Amino acid sequence: MNLILLGPPGAGKGTQAQRMVDRYHTPQISTGDILRSAVKESAPLGMKAKGFMDQGQLVPDEIVIGIIEERLKAKDCDSGFILDGFPRTIPQAEALQPILTKIGKKIDHVINIEVDPEELVRRLTGRRTCKNCGAMFHLLFQPPKKEGICDRCGGTLYLRADDKEETIRTRLKEYEKQTAPLIQYYQGKKTLRSIQGVGGPDQIFDQIVRLLDATPV
Ligand code: AMP
Repeated sequence: MNLILLGPPGAGKGTQAQRMVDRYHTPQISTGDILRSAVKESAPLGMKAKGFMDQGQLVPDEIVIGIIEERLKAKDCDSGFILDGFPRTIPQAEALQPILTKIGKKIDHVINIEVDPEELVRRLTGRRTCKNCGAMFHLLFQPPKKEGICDRCGGTLYLRADDKEETIRTRLKEYEKQTAPLIQYYQGKKTLRSIQGVGGPDQIFDQIVRLLDATPV
């Protein structure tokens, strides 16, 4: 199963992708996670990306396209993949096509998670991420068992620089301008299905599972 998860920042793509990994044993490819770990390691890629990320702007297309091209060639993608946070622009979606053709794959599903913008701000400001393993928690909806500590690995939880309110507003504008047009793009290709990203993570995941199990590949 080769799948793209679309949706604005805060729609729950990362959370849902983690659950899909557990259920379908398919790797999650998050360009955001790859970029954050490059920043953490002060790798050249991270140096190029950090300024854009901290300001809530998209990293230039050629950088993320290069990341995806490399990552999709890895052995663990043989069984499929879940793209979380890529593509985010029309040129990225257009670049994905020849990459997939080269490795003999195609996209089976595009799932678009829809959420009201004000709800997104509320969600993102409460979000906490593990510095060590990247797991996500939420102060209101999914609090860690111990305040400030990751349930999974015991790492420290922090508020991402790009989850501060002002930066969130920039990210949402970027989404509307650059990413939302992908909804029409994939509707045109008849691979897109939208779900309502309301309720808790379990309810959202149920909708995804019903949708995927109803249309196996
Ligand atoms: P995310 O964790 O998916 O919300 O991504 C965090 C940040 O990484 C974004 O706000 C962008 O700055 C950058 N980023 C992640 N994926 C992409 C992408 N496909 N294109 C451009 N920038 C990206």
